[in-house]
This record gives sequence, structure tokens and C-alpha cells, in this order.
Amino acid sequence: MKMSSRVEKLPPYLFADLDKRIRSKREEGTDILHFGIGDPDLPTPDHIINACCKAAKDPENHRYPSYQGMLSFREAVSERYKRDRKVELDPEREIITLIGSKEGIHNVNFSLIDKGDVVLNPDPCYPVYYTGTIIAGGEPFPMPLKEKNSFLPNLESIPNDKVKKAKLMWINYPNNPTSSIAKKSFFKEAIDFAFDNGLAICSDEAYSKIVLDKTKITSLLEVKGGREVGIVFDSLSKTYNMTGWRIGYALGNEDLIQSLGKIKTNVDSGVSQIIQEAGITALTSSQDCIRENLRIYRSRLDVLVNGLNRLGFICNKPKATFYVWMKVPNNDSMKFANMLLDKGGIVCTPGIGFGEHGEGYVRFALTQPISKINDALKRLESIL
Ligand SMILES: *Cc1c(COP(=O)(O)O)cnc(C)c1O
Repeated sequence: MKMSSRVEKLPPYLFADLDKRIRSKREEGTDILHFGIGDPDLPTPDHIINACCKAAKDPENHRYPSYQGMLSFREAVSERYKRDRKVELDPEREIITLIGSKEGIHNVNFSLIDKGDVVLNPDPCYPVYYTGTIIAGGEPFPMPLKEKNSFLPNLESIPNDKVKKAKLMWINYPNNPTSSIAKKSFFKEAIDFAFDNGLAICSDEAYSKIVLDKTKITSLLEVKGGREVGIVFDSLSKTYNMTGWRIGYALGNEDLIQSLGKIKTNVDSGVSQIIQEAGITALTSSQDCIRENLRIYRSRLDVLVNGLNRLGFICNKPKATFYVWMKVPNNDSMKFANMLLDKGGIVCTPGIGFGEHGEGYVRFALTQPISKINDALKRLESIL
């Protein structure tokens, strides 16, 4: 069977070999310490689960949901954003519910991209930015995130012919995988760039609440002009330990939100109202559960980074996200990750899997309890 060229253009899955090695290690009986996946190990808070159970019993929620999401969910998003950011959005026109932000991150390409249009994506990055572009028939163009530039893209270095063809630019702060953050001045620069060159900005803010110190995190829509040029993607996944529930949302520029809704109407049938009810509870009740999560991530972070530094590795404590982005010896991230697995049963993610400019680093996710982090550090010490 001959598959479409869009399927053939998708990059190979770089972790296939690593996954195979993990499986065979498990079969050998090795106790694998898994720091590879950005998926919170902590459970969804009880009050959110209870709201879901209650909603499941209401027959109203057994029917098709609306495409754009329940108005009450979108109102909850609007209220939350207003409280956090002092920006007021119209829940009817400027907010849409998504089946996890991944759905919208993929589909927004179909709103903006025709064949040959360019999409600027950070490199390293969450792979859905560029795979979505490829599937939509566009051309992804990577913007390197370099440590010497604090992992911010250098917008001036993007070639002119690419800028001319670009319809969309992705930004993602707090950043996965580098765990860097961006100041308001960067958002201003990106917005000016978008105005000057006639392109849209999608700001993926999935980690906006996973803030490990007192840093203030900027959101696109609170910066002047942000709302004219772009939208924000956010998600309940990381904030409330809800990755498996599949609920997220986008908010901002009305035209783009409406167009995303049009695509969505033709692709899926919306988020289950049972899940949206749980989401409303998450967004409108006390946010203490987030503070509790953060306390746990901070204590894990201290143990992991102090331990890695003591063993001679170079990594900093991130201000946000639950990732540690660490330089590896010899600049070969795949080799280093394989070595940790083979000799220590430790899984981390090789930076090359997030793009060419992720090479030279590995990512550890703080999604393991302290006891496992300590085990990993002991194993590392004995390997070295
Ligand atoms: C986890 C993550 C997402 C969100 O995923 P959903 O569960 O689909 O909401 C989006 N962007 C980045 C960078 C992520 O790491």
C-alpha cells in the first residue's frame, strides 16, 4: 500500500530503539527508574474526581457535547484568566475547549497553513508543532534555542525568504524541554515581529502554573498587541495532574479561535461534558492543590539537581516546568541515554529527540518520588 507523501514526510520516531531497550531491560528483571515522560505521577485531586463522578450520573452529559465546549467551561477559563492575568476575554467568541491542547496545537495548522507556507518552530521543541505543520502540507522552519541566548530564538537570524513565507510562529515558555522562561520583553519582541511580518503567534503555555520559584510568568495576551496577533494554548494536564482526562483550551484572537472551531466541527465532536464539569471544578475551586504539587516538585528538584551537580554534571535548577535539562559529556545525547539505561536502568530523554539543537542535552522529568531519585543518584555514582 502506498501511503500519502505527508505520512512519508513525518520524521522517524527517534525513541523506537530506546523504547525497545527499555522493554528488554524490564523483561530481564531490571527495576527501571523512569525519568523520561512528562506525565505527572501524582493523582488528580479528589475534589476534581468527585465532580466528574457527579457529572457522570447526569443523563444530560451522556449526549453529544457542543463542538466549541460548554459555555460554563469557557466562562470558568475566562474567570481564571481574568483573576490570574487581569485580562478579560469573551467566553463566547475568544475561548474554545480542546481535547487536550495537543488537539488544537495540531489543528491550528489547518486554520492557517496552505501548501508551502512556513511555520516557525523552536528547536528543540514539543514535536507536535512541526508534525502538525507537515501533515497540513506546510513547511516547518526551526528557530534554534541556544543556551548562550537563554534558550530564546533569535528572530533577526531567520532568513528573509522564510520570514516572507511564514504564517505562524510557535513560542513556548515556560519551555519544554529546556525549562527556560521568557521575560515580557521577549513577548514584546515576538509581537512586533508578528505585526511587521504579518504572521500569527501561537503561545503554548502548558507550564504557566508549574512555577518553582517566585518568578512571574508572562502570558501572550497580557502583553500589548498579543490579542491582535495570537492565541494561547493552555491545558489542565500539567496544572491539575490531568493528562489522561484530555482537556485543554485555547484563548485569544477571535478570528483564529473561530477558525479553529470551524476545523474542529469537522474533525471531532468536542470534549465530554463529564470531563468539562471536572474541569470547571478544577478552574473555579481553591488552587491550593497546585501549591501542594509545586512543593513536591521543588523538593524533588533540590534532591535531583544537587545530586547531579555533586556527581559533576552541569545543570541548573529551573524556575519553571518539571524538567531538568542537563548537558551530557561528549555531546551525544542518545549515547548517554543508552548508557544510563544499560548500566543503571535509568531512563531519561535524549535531547536530539526534540530537534537538532536539543543535541548535547538530556531531559529528566521530576515525575518520580524522592526515593526513586535517590536510587537513581546512587546508581549513577556507581556507574561513574
Ligand atoms: C504536555 C504538553 C502539552 C499538553 O498536552 P495536552 O495534554 O494535550 O494538553 C502541550 N505542550 C507542551 C509543550 C507539553 O509539554
